[in-house]
Amino acid sequence: MKWTASPVCRLVALAIAAIVPTALVSRAAVAEPTYAFDRTPGKLPKTVVPLNYTIELVPDLESLALPGVETIDIEVREPTSRLTLNAVNTTFDAASIDGDVQRADVTLDAATETATLSFPEPLAIGAHRLRIRFTARINSFGAGLFSVDYPTATGIKRLLSSQLEPADARRIFPCWDEPAFKASFALTVTVPRHFLAVSNMPITREEPLSADLKRVSFAPTPKMSSYLLLLTTGELERLTAEVDGVTVGVVTTSGKSGQGRYALDNAVGLLSYFNDYFGVKYPLPKLDLIAVPGGIGGAMENWGGITFFESRLLFDPLTASDTARRGIFSILAHEMAHQWFGDLVTMGWWDNLWLNEGFASWMQEKAAEHFYPQWKSWLNGYGQKQFAMTLDARRTSHPIQQVVADQREATAAFDGITYNKGQAFIRMLETYLGEQPFRDGIRRYMAAHAYGNTTTADLWQALESAAGKPVAGIAASFTEQDGVPLILAEARCDGTSQRMTLRQDRFVIAPGPAAAGFSPRHWQVPIAVGAVNATRPADTLLLDGSADIAVGSCGEPIKVNLGDAGYYRVDYGPRSRAALVASLPLMAPEDRLNILADSWALVQAGRAEASSYFALIETINVDDQRAVWDQVIASLTRLNRLALDRPERAALQAYARARLRPLFNRLGWNGSGAGDDDNALLRSRVILALGDLGDDDILAEARRRFASFRQNPQSLPPALRDAVADLVGIGADRETYDALLALARNSTAMNERVRFYDAAASARDATLAHATLALTLTDELPTNIIGGVINTVAAAGEQPDLAWDFVRTNFDALATKLGPSFGDFFIANLMTNFSDDGHAAALKEFAPAQSSSAGRLTAARALETIAIAADFKARALPAIVEWTRRPEVGHP
Ligand SMILES: [Zn+2]
Repeated sequence: MKWTASPVCRLVALAIAAIVPTALVSRAAVAEPTYAFDRTPGKLPKTVVPLNYTIELVPDLESLALPGVETIDIEVREPTSRLTLNAVNTTFDAASIDGDVQRADVTLDAATETATLSFPEPLAIGAHRLRIRFTARINSFGAGLFSVDYPTATGIKRLLSSQLEPADARRIFPCWDEPAFKASFALTVTVPRHFLAVSNMPITREEPLSADLKRVSFAPTPKMSSYLLLLTTGELERLTAEVDGVTVGVVTTSGKSGQGRYALDNAVGLLSYFNDYFGVKYPLPKLDLIAVPGGIGGAMENWGGITFFESRLLFDPLTASDTARRGIFSILAHEMAHQWFGDLVTMGWWDNLWLNEGFASWMQEKAAEHFYPQWKSWLNGYGQKQFAMTLDARRTSHPIQQVVADQREATAAFDGITYNKGQAFIRMLETYLGEQPFRDGIRRYMAAHAYGNTTTADLWQALESAAGKPVAGIAASFTEQDGVPLILAEARCDGTSQRMTLRQDRFVIAPGPAAAGFSPRHWQVPIAVGAVNATRPADTLLLDGSADIAVGSCGEPIKVNLGDAGYYRVDYGPRSRAALVASLPLMAPEDRLNILADSWALVQAGRAEASSYFALIETINVDDQRAVWDQVIASLTRLNRLALDRPERAALQAYARARLRPLFNRLGWNGSGAGDDDNALLRSRVILALGDLGDDDILAEARRRFASFRQNPQSLPPALRDAVADLVGIGADRETYDALLALARNSTAMNERVRFYDAAASARDATLAHATLALTLTDELPTNIIGGVINTVAAAGEQPDLAWDFVRTNFDALATKLGPSFGDFFIANLMTNFSDDGHAAALKEFAPAQSSSAGRLTAARALETIAIAADFKARALPAIVEWTRRPEVGHP
């Protein structure tokens, strides 16, 4: 599954929620055992396993009832008179076994989301056939089977789609809904005759039932986990291509398939690339990429039928920017990698979810480097690792491999640690083992476990045998314990040569005395170390404790974490740091960026003065790479946000504008417009940042360009549309606000709708912010963008309390509309817009955010975020005022 950091994505709340570790005590890094079904965690008894499901569904698009009947071939492993499987919000109309030989009494347990079928006589060991007639329901939020109402040129239409990860197949049909219970699924569905129905496998039969309805049957799937099942049906069209014997399709609502061409072309290339990389051919006869206009915010890797929020898949060069193009490739590569890594070979239980997500997140960047090296995906994607290290430095972090008790906790596991630390760790491991040995290990793993389940230990075994290097120890230290290694590095002269000592510590960020209450950690860290402008590859050593190594000649600048591929931070001693700062312009951009990011992190951790970071950014050349400037913009923007209610804000904004103006002066408003142009992306970024920092010229020009755009849409290039719309939105009066809403309402293109709703939500005017919030209670917005719109009001407005008061007052209505994740994740995430004790207390006291274990976990995480932000702004903001007053710049 992929949840991207769009400003309007409900699931961002999940993506940035980290949970409290179940065990706070430090434990020795011990590698877990390889997979075995009987010792796999989970809630369901393993006495009975499903082999094949034959499911017939008759969804009612009007009443949203979902009646169905299923026949399940099961294997009874021990005699039993009770079968326990999963079901939620489902009525059992009848349940019997072996052709009505025995009928079952059914007991439902809403808390555990299970149904227990009790039979008068025990079932003997061996094969049996279970038949259940049931009625489930179609949801308005994106879980189980859900409905989406979307605007078209001929009015509002309704389609159905599904979202089952981690544990919502049980909302469609009773099943063994845990990933280790793999089975095959043969689906039949009754739909309107003018609908297209898409599932994991090709259609085998379509038969008319009446003037309006038809019954569509799909070929049975191979053995797979229940969370990978898919059904999408509606007024859809399909564009296809053939590659290596597989039909690749893009499925869209009517009239939009042409916008799927970009994704289709890339999917064709990716399928061949992955066939080769994994050494196992894609095993299904077809792969559909389905654009769904609501319900899900990111994408989901259902086997053979990947679903995407529409604007994450479709590309219209007239309205979408290069950022969108890169984003579509990235999410496509991520989900397609899951077709092997996740779908063909699946983690036994959610405690190993990181392996799925870490691997797919790593492969999305690796594939981008292969197909589009000019995008510099690792360099420009540097923020993903930074985000993980920020979360992982805190008390409420957790090991990427963590105990997951049940389905609610499984949902909480989809976070920045799981995705981004997982990605960063896999990258570090590949760099350490070497590209070819790593790939050979992946091929062995795929071949050995196809159609089965694994733990990470199975992967480490395959990698060790392919690479001939130890993996389990490194892996255990990064996956079975939380925390970020801090490498303390200092060089000294030894005659004319130079030596460097490397020592391990733990990098932590906490309010108050930094290290208090954190237990020490020990890692095996692959360290790349060498001269900053060396022509040969860096030396890699496996640091297990501390080391003292010979490095170059006396005074030569030596950098640790060369190439920025390692998951650790570095704090240099004064001698090494001075040499590095002096040679900053000579470094590869990855290394300059790494120094900047570590420096900013050390300031946040209280290990360095804020001035050390400000001094560094003043050395950055105006011609430097986008990623380097992006780091600078991100930190200045963060400070501006924290300064919202502080007297230092004016001085900070003046300083930040002065720093960024020369960059804007280089880029200007107009670029060549050529594709693959990092300058175009940086231009949009710096324009938005300067406008947000109150640069009047930028704001005036944005208004002028928006006025021209309203006369002639072609006058505003897609690359500038987000920035211009957002800046106009921030300062909008009623007339402009209405114009933004009209643009959103009159478009049937999802990227335009999201863009203009989000711009309207940025309005700082309180009356307009109220109007936006009121909109979230209507049926106008796709449900999956509602959380994002509320969050934009909170984040962009001068008064985040407006959004919080609104959510508090309307909690029940919003929770009904948006499903369980609203209470579990959204509230806590919303409160991280604040950085004061009063709002921390309000979150603690808000009962709905504390009513489930997932809610309590994310609330604890948010409370720590708030406390850290409060502490940091108290230190950093006075420091920046002092910095701007230093004698060499004169007094403003
Ligand atoms: Zn994923």
